[in-house]
Amino acid sequence: MAICPNKFVFSEDAGVDLQNRLALVTGGSRGIGRAIALKLAALGADVAIIYSGNAVAADEVCEQAVKLGVRSAAFMCDVSDFASAKKTVDMIKEEFGKIDILINNAGITRDGLIVSMKEEAFDEVIDVNLKGAFNMIRHCSPIFIRNRSGKIINISSIAGLIGNAGQANYSASKAGLIGLTKATARELASRNICCNAIAPGFIDTDMTASIGTDNPLFNSIPLGRAGLADEVAELAAFLCGADYITGEVIRIDGGLAI
Ligand code: NAP
Repeated sequence: MAICPNKFVFSEDAGVDLQNRLALVTGGSRGIGRAIALKLAALGADVAIIYSGNAVAADEVCEQAVKLGVRSAAFMCDVSDFASAKKTVDMIKEEFGKIDILINNAGITRDGLIVSMKEEAFDEVIDVNLKGAFNMIRHCSPIFIRNRSGKIINISSIAGLIGNAGQANYSASKAGLIGLTKATARELASRNICCNAIAPGFIDTDMTASIGTDNPLFNSIPLGRAGLADEVAELAAFLCGADYITGEVIRIDGGLAI
């Protein structure tokens, strides 16, 4: 669907070296999370991925990561469940001996107009997208604080910056993630821990598969195309190597939210 002409490629040896790091990627089985997990693996990081039910996709990502020469394992966990998130973080720490990078990418949509939105649709989206990220930060931050080092990247959305009709729940969760990012960045900066958010626009994944290229949305993207999961992954990799950026929100949207 997406056409990306004359693409400049972020070289694997362009400066970000993640060898001996463990990156935990929630929602790493598909879409943007999968692309991030494999990009970080290509840069040398061991990767632990969390998924909610799609074991086949999760195992495939781990196999691909192992082929890149790193260790990788998948863990089924509903990130919205505080106790399960803790148990999973403990298991990953036990298995790999460390956690250096946390990518809060797991996310869902339950779209509908606010006038008829069911309470459960609101709660479910906030629970996975926002509370899920809190749960993971809550359980990983003691490890980062002990290490005096850590990178946290939260995958927000331009819906959290400018709102999106039909996505009040999703927009609220993604705006909440930006507040969570900034507060976390301020709290943990003295321990050398950076926390940033990425705000993608329209990225070609399963989540957006039902939106055809004839959708008027495409006409409003200044760069004229959907983004690629790999492009978001390149930005995440850059932030993993950035030691003097924290509390930032970076749009990657082809100009959609200018
Ligand atoms: P996707 O293709 O639908 O993949 C979602 C991933 O999240 C899957 O790995 C899924 O696991 C996992 N997941 C869902 N609920 C979970 C839960 N409760 N606990 C743990 N994992 C869970 O989504 P995507 O398009 O790659 O989006 C990734 C992130 O980017 C989301 O936060 C999304 O809001 C954000 N984003 C996407 C776009 C876009 O245009 N695609 C734009 C802006 C922001 P299973 O495979 O097991 O189901």
